[in-house]
Amino acid sequence: MSVLIDGKALAAKMRGELREKVSKFREEKGEIGLAVVLIGEDPASQVYVRNKIKACEEVGIRSFSYHLPQDCTQADAEALIGELVLSERVHGILVQLPLPAQLDERKLLRMIPPAKDVDGFCAENVGNLAMNRETIVACTPFGVMKMLEEYGIDPKGKTAVVLGRSNIVGKPMAMLLLNADATVTVCHSKTKNLKEVCASADILVVAIGRAKFVTADMVKQGAVVIDVGMDRDENGKLCGDVDFENVKEKASYITPVPGGVGPMTITMLLYNTYIAASRR
Ligand code: NAP
Repeated sequence: MSVLIDGKALAAKMRGELREKVSKFREEKGEIGLAVVLIGEDPASQVYVRNKIKACEEVGIRSFSYHLPQDCTQADAEALIGELVLSERVHGILVQLPLPAQLDERKLLRMIPPAKDVDGFCAENVGNLAMNRETIVACTPFGVMKMLEEYGIDPKGKTAVVLGRSNIVGKPMAMLLLNADATVTVCHSKTKNLKEVCASADILVVAIGRAKFVTADMVKQGAVVIDVGMDRDENGKLCGDVDFENVKEKASYITPVPGGVGPMTITMLLYNTYIAASRR
């Protein structure tokens, strides 16, 4: 039977600490501001943006919310981001993805300077992470590292396997674990002997977007299992990439879905915004 890694509790604790830091910062240097840009009418994006704005309020970060229409032009989007780049009141800029098809996403994101890139997606921040230098780290993998730290799980010398190689989760996760002295293997859809590779992991981080894909036979006895996935099962219920009920019998530590990695992601966005303001 494994220990449950409670992301919800850790997120609440971190937000409490952050509220105090933000309040102190406000007294000494002024308000911290996060610009949240939503373009178009994607319903999921609207929910994410609402949650981010609410989370900002919770810790005392001022949010500046912008909503451009679905048919907005590249020039309009660039004009808005250009303004935010120059604004003294804005310490972090978040452009909610995906963007409408007519927009050049890469060009828009490249306008955001590394110091305001609170998602940690830009090439300079990713490059600094790869070189183990001071940077802004992508929120989800950063949150996973905080969870490991909270539960006293030191990756040093451990065999870590990251399942998934996306730019926002898998790759930065692998770099963070490597920087923390784990021996890291990254798996993806073309990996051979996936089951054996996963079963060799002391720490297994799964981020593939396939409901309950990782079964107990893919997990080593006593492994730490971190489930980043946010999927729907056959009944439409929220679940992760890991077959939680069976894997929890084998793992030493495991994250649930919901209540695991998810609540940490927005918390790390707030944390990154605080870091961006502090470094200015
Ligand atoms: P993504 O961009 O779709 O990448 C998925 C990765 O998984 C790819 O590298 C893909 O391999 C690999 N993959 C897919 N099917 C596989 C299979 N059968 N065997 C081995 N590898 C396979 O996804 P993402 O953005 O990283 O997100 C992954 C999951 O995490 C999703 O469920 C997403 O909703 C969730 N997520 C959660 C949070 C959170 O806050 N909790 C944040 C972000 C994402 P290839 O590269 O070879 O195609």
